Amino acid sequence: MLLFTPGPTPIPESIRQAMATPTLHHRTKEFEEIFAKARWGLKTMLKMPEVLMLASSGTGAMEASILQFCSAKLLSINCGKFGERWGKIAAANSIPYVEIAREWNTPVEVEDVLQELKNDTSIDVVALQVCESAGGMRLKAEEIAKSIKAYNKNIVVIADAITAMGVEPLDTTNIDVLIGGSQKAFMLPPGMSILGLSEYALTIIQDSKSHKKYRNGLYFNLAIELNNQRKNTTAWTAPTTIISGLVKYFEIIQALGEGMELDSALICQNLPNSLEKNRLESGFAYAYNHTAKLALATREAIRELDLKVYPKTPALAMSTIEHKEQAAKIRQCMKTYGVNVAAGQDHIKEQIFRINHMGLVRVYEASFVVNALELSLNALGIRAFDGRGGATFLRTFYAL
Ligand SMILES: *Cc1c(COP(=O)(O)O)cnc(C)c1O
Repeated sequence: MLLFTPGPTPIPESIRQAMATPTLHHRTKEFEEIFAKARWGLKTMLKMPEVLMLASSGTGAMEASILQFCSAKLLSINCGKFGERWGKIAAANSIPYVEIAREWNTPVEVEDVLQELKNDTSIDVVALQVCESAGGMRLKAEEIAKSIKAYNKNIVVIADAITAMGVEPLDTTNIDVLIGGSQKAFMLPPGMSILGLSEYALTIIQDSKSHKKYRNGLYFNLAIELNNQRKNTTAWTAPTTIISGLVKYFEIIQALGEGMELDSALICQNLPNSLEKNRLESGFAYAYNHTAKLALATREAIRELDLKVYPKTPALAMSTIEHKEQAAKIRQCMKTYGVNVAAGQDHIKEQIFRINHMGLVRVYEASFVVNALELSLNALGIRAFDGRGGATFLRTFYAL
């Protein structure tokens, strides 16, 4: 069965093999070297001055950020199930918050955020998603962050980029905390979260006098982590296996930058073992371009099949199809053709389904997903099969 859910994503053979090596003890020189490579790779990828890796799913990094940076009031941007989570985190920790909520296909606008900040001057943190995975929607995160900083540079901007990191290039100039998760575009098992930090975020973390204001606890105490991770170790037992896999991910990306075929890079054991900035960056340029082509070609095919893309501003990480009557049936039927895509959640559970584009998806797999979709429409009597979906996908992909 082809796993085409927007997280977890399939783990390629070269990463699986890297993670199948004997477990290292985390307090060793050997592991410190791996950790240093992982840190370097993340900093190069995110173009941010500092990064942290935490042993938790993505939500752990979301909670850690709210605890660390919010001392007065949080403004939560809620355009879906993940945006809703900011408020739940605040409520669970007795942190005051206000929220701007939108239907899951409708992005928040820059002016709405600014208006809220003007209405309530006690807000010290704004938290939002770059891609809200509940609807597969891209928010104008960079633009919103820029206008927040222009209005008041002391407001901390926290961006959940769990389904944007590794998907597309991100402008992190005005973002203080950028959150990632291992199980999405990194093609790693679930269990590790990532934080990219700005200079301003570092100032707050390191200001020991200000710590009394915050509720940063122990396990998710970013000051303790920062101290350790700068020395290439972690405060608590590190997810060593996933971190070894992360280094392999960077090697795969760099190999693509050096011209290796995608299919080979995903299975190959002879990947470049010395990482180099320019080559890694050209590998990311390849990966971002590949993902964008897959997403755009899939979207063209969706329109050609007379289906509706759900969000008003679709993200590149996934394609979300709305079919109010039969979304659940279409998704179920695709399984009979060997393709597993994700349902919706909550109130739109039965009305949408989501096709993943994150990670390095092979063209022949992505194109079969479109065929499975078209075959399912035929089987359910929605639209007769004529091969237009697959043809449109391939024509668009190779024209881009
Ligand atoms: C997957 C995801 C998360 C993290 O969820 P976890 O289950 O805690 O890993 C957070 N935000 C977005 C947008 C996601 O897609």
